[in-house]
Amino acid sequence: MENKSVNETEDPPNDDDSILESVRLMQTAKTYIQYLPTQLQNEEYKKICDLVEKYIETYCKHNIVYDEIDIPPDNSKPIRYCTHCYKTFK
Ligand SMILES: [Zn+2]
Repeated sequence: MENKSVNETEDPPNDDDSILESVRLMQTAKTYIQYLPTQLQNEEYKKICDLVEKYIETYCKHNIVYDEIDIPPDNSKPIRYCTHCYKTFK
C-alpha cells in the first residue's frame, strides 16, 4: 500500500445536499464497521475507521439539537447532539 498523505481538499463534494448525503452514508458505514470487536480489527481496518470519522468531522454541517437522556433510576441529563452525525456537544 502506498503511504501518500491524504489531501483533504481534493475533490470535495461541493453541493450541500450531496455533502449531507455523503455524511449520512459515512455515518451508516461507521455504525456497521464498529460492530467488529476491536481485538479483531487490524491496523488497516482501524485506519479506515479513522478516515470515516475524519470525513464526518470534516464535512458534517452540524444540526445541533437539545435533548434529554435518561439515566436510571431517575436522573435526566440534557445533551446537545447533531442530528446528522450524532456527535454530542457540551
Ligand atoms: Zn454533525
